[in-house]
Amino acid sequence: MATRLPKLLVAIVPTLLWANAFQNAAPAQEPAKVSVAISGGSVAGVYTHVAKTLCTILEQTHPAQYVCTGRTGLGSVFNVNALKRDLVDFGLVQSDRHWQAWNGTGEWKDQPTQTVRSVFSLHDEVVHIIARTDSGIETITDLMKKRVNIGNLSSGQRANTLEVLALYGIDANTDIDSFSYQQGNAYHAYGDHSIDAFFYTVGLPSRSIAQVVKEIPSNFIPLDEAVLAPLIENAPYYVMTKIPRGIYKGVNEAVTTLGVKATLMTSENTPDDLVYDLTKAYFENIDAVTSSHPALANVTARNARDGLIAPLHPGARKYYQEQGWLN
Ligand code: GLU
Repeated sequence: MATRLPKLLVAIVPTLLWANAFQNAAPAQEPAKVSVAISGGSVAGVYTHVAKTLCTILEQTHPAQYVCTGRTGLGSVFNVNALKRDLVDFGLVQSDRHWQAWNGTGEWKDQPTQTVRSVFSLHDEVVHIIARTDSGIETITDLMKKRVNIGNLSSGQRANTLEVLALYGIDANTDIDSFSYQQGNAYHAYGDHSIDAFFYTVGLPSRSIAQVVKEIPSNFIPLDEAVLAPLIENAPYYVMTKIPRGIYKGVNEAVTTLGVKATLMTSENTPDDLVYDLTKAYFENIDAVTSSHPALANVTARNARDGLIAPLHPGARKYYQEQGWLN
């Protein structure tokens, strides 16, 4: 016994010291970064650009805290539903879809989605209706029997398209040959003549539309003020607006159309700190956002609550209160 104990100690003590030395040498664990996802739209749109820009600002202002991904998504309807399921933290949503989700109409008929929350609104979006000049389409009624992209399922523009067509008595199922491409693919189809026209609700000016109509002679199809008036009266989320003359090649006079607002939404489950941090980072760097894309040029802090329907998330509310922007 007397000889066995020291042997054991000889074996154990260095091992313990060695392990201890390693423990002391291990670098202090940095707290894990919180991952944040902001969902946009097609690669061809403004939403994804906004999502990526917001992520860049959040990461730059909180380098140790967040890792943020601005992702492509299917568009407004997808973003509301992804927020509802807590699949993403933030999403860009047209103010008309925002209104419908909250009130349980349109694609959320009888299923109000009231777990979503408002953060701020951004740019104006307008319904662009564009047809190849060689298709002969100059008016909405000329779309009859033509091949028309009405927007992908879960996009915001699809419902705008169906509403506009319905105003003119056109049924997308029977009166036109309708396609449901997401916008990037719609451009390919338009370029290779497999569709004649497309609808796209997007920030003005859209860089991708500018590019397409530069290459393919195109007509911008106007809507009639008298036809729009009753729709706007019943749908508080629409405004009548114009695509200004000269903004794109082929727009030789202002084109009457419908407008909505792009809004940033989140879920009631998103932590207050994260929403506060993103809201603060955005408003403190708003110039970097507005100068990053021509469609964002008119965005200001002053119009940041236009078109918001769902209540402000408490994290956003805290920032607005600090700024004295709430009554
Ligand atoms: N407004 C479109 C939508 O909700 C997206 C436009 C964009 O990606 O900028 O689907």
